[in-house]
Amino acid sequence: KYDVAAMGELLIDFAMNGQSEQGNNCFEACPGGAPCNVLAMLGKLGRKTAFLGKVGEDQFGKLLKETIEEVGVDTTGLRMDQEIPTTLAFVHTFPDGDRDFSFYRKPGADMMLREEEVDYDVIRQAKIFHFGTLSMTDEPVRSATKKALEVAKEAGCLISLDPNLRPPLWKSLDEAKKMMEYGFRYCDILKISDNEIQFVSGKEDYDEGIQYLQEKYHIPLIFLTMGKDGSRAYYKGMRVEKAGYRVDTVETTGAGDTFCGSALNGVLERGIDNLTEKDLTEILDFANAAAAIVTTKKGAIRSMPEQEEVEEMLTK
Ligand code: ATP
Repeated sequence: KYDVAAMGELLIDFAMNGQSEQGNNCFEACPGGAPCNVLAMLGKLGRKTAFLGKVGEDQFGKLLKETIEEVGVDTTGLRMDQEIPTTLAFVHTFPDGDRDFSFYRKPGADMMLREEEVDYDVIRQAKIFHFGTLSMTDEPVRSATKKALEVAKEAGCLISLDPNLRPPLWKSLDEAKKMMEYGFRYCDILKISDNEIQFVSGKEDYDEGIQYLQEKYHIPLIFLTMGKDGSRAYYKGMRVEKAGYRVDTVETTGAGDTFCGSALNGVLERGIDNLTEKDLTEILDFANAAAAIVTTKKGAIRSMPEQEEVEEMLTK
């Protein structure tokens, strides 16, 4: 019934956006959370998707539900917490472009999803189960994620992981590493960024870092993203690299998620058992192009490119 079911955080990012006439800072309420960005991209590519997670039973929660439904995500598995409000993050941007996140309140509703609230039928009906590590920073959502992984494995879903570091959200970096490693044991498809592979493997060189992971966890397909430099795929001893597209970048929010959604679509099209070097090259090229386009626009969930827009970029 679903191509991809994803579980994880869903929140509002308040991004600084100019000043009022009175000189007060204005903040724009942007729907945020990596898993739904991934689903939004998959939706643009015609895939059926579903989200599992929790928001508060408040105006922000309703706004998030409406937004993800608007981009085509099924919300059967979205729960609304009666007591804990929707997670809000304020993103302060400094003149030099540096960003600082403050969370109100912590933990918010997204962390409150309990094991017994997860709609396991949605997972069982999906070809791919996708998750990140931010829903593993604390209980009760950590146990819910672990249970969801068990169910997905048992049901024969392909399991896709996009780990996220975000140091302030973890009790310790050691715990962040442990939870990433927990996910590695389950996943068939891993999308990892340059700084995350260095963090988790302790190796400066990306290839050495990936090799370390492969030897330890035997992950069938790994995508490595390297910002504007592009990406690599590692599969059955093959290593394929594709340079990134040169574009006028406005902000990189959601680039990794757009890449991830596009890459999962590539796997859905071809299956995971017999990928060739040509397949991997095509998957990387498409995902790089889609992600590059997203960096030329503000926002993520509503800024995902159409298939035609990506294809136009490919032929250049
Ligand atoms: P995020 O911060 O969104 O989680 P990430 O760190 O997971 O992102 P990145 O490696 O930053 O992912 O970017 C993912 C992909 O997006 C890259 O592999 C590349 O194809 C594309 N990309 C990112 N930044 C740029 C850029 N400035 N110009 C062109 N393409 C980019």
